[in-house]
Amino acid sequence: MHATIPFDRDGIHHGHLQLPHSRDDSAWGAVMIPVTVIQNGAGPTALLTGGNHGDEYEGPVALHDLAATLTPDQITGRVIIVPSMNHPAFLAGTRTSPIDMGNLNRSFPGSATGTVTQKIAAYFQTTLVPLADIVLDFHSGGKTLDFVPVAAAHLLDNADQQAACVAAMTAFNAPYSVMLREIDNVGMYDTAVEDMGKIFVSTELGGGGTATARSIGIATKGLRNLLIHAGILQGTLDISPTTFIDMPEGESFTFATQAGLFQPLVDLASPVRKGQPIANIWDIAHTGARPQPVLAAGSGIVIARHFPGLIKMGDCAGVVGVRRTQ
Ligand code: ZN
Repeated sequence: MHATIPFDRDGIHHGHLQLPHSRDDSAWGAVMIPVTVIQNGAGPTALLTGGNHGDEYEGPVALHDLAATLTPDQITGRVIIVPSMNHPAFLAGTRTSPIDMGNLNRSFPGSATGTVTQKIAAYFQTTLVPLADIVLDFHSGGKTLDFVPVAAAHLLDNADQQAACVAAMTAFNAPYSVMLREIDNVGMYDTAVEDMGKIFVSTELGGGGTATARSIGIATKGLRNLLIHAGILQGTLDISPTTFIDMPEGESFTFATQAGLFQPLVDLASPVRKGQPIANIWDIAHTGARPQPVLAAGSGIVIARHFPGLIKMGDCAGVVGVRRTQ
């Protein structure tokens, strides 16, 4: 895998990350992942990514907009823009790659001799992330989850690194700023970037396999704020009130214990108490039975929920976060 443009020259360069992919319909073909590099002299480097999952759209829109409008004279340092990291998944509109079923955000550190998705992960791990001082990776809920608009940082062992991540998350200034607790952080890009000591911010800006004017506006403003915060883009921060959210261990995630028809009982951002029914699941194979309630794992507000009308056993039904009083 190689880039068709330089990473170390002033100016603006649009090109591709080119990954050879020999297949039935193209013997000597390649996966072509769009990339833009904008550089103006010495300074910090921001690595900006979307499409890590192929069915999440705020990041790709905001990043295509940035790549088409940002000029070298507006910045100090370097901006690397990859709107659709897992480009095969993005082309298919699916979370994982149709080539190898790879979930890029569970494939790190990747393998240069592995599948297509593992090779993409390895290229970021060994080539792109080491160039960066600050990394922003846009996510949303995709086709199966919906979120309140969130910028996120993680609890880290290194207090200074965590504080820098929280400061960058706060500068992004989504309506909600969450100390995100992952269900399982093994193989995540987030973990790989944080383990390299970088400043890392991610988002969950909506979901349902689409984007809205509001959620794209949050992405676009946050992106600009983050670049100003990093000392790369000239300008002043555009800051509105944000709600800080924590996710207490064992009191955030609720999973479906049966399949059926999903009936939300509360909407996103609603306050709930621990044990309160947040949804019902109806048995769609039989009439006459009462639904099974889905109970809030903790007290707080609903920050995410299952999106499709039907739910399967084991699906994440809802996520509760606690508003921080400070
Ligand atoms: Zn995602």
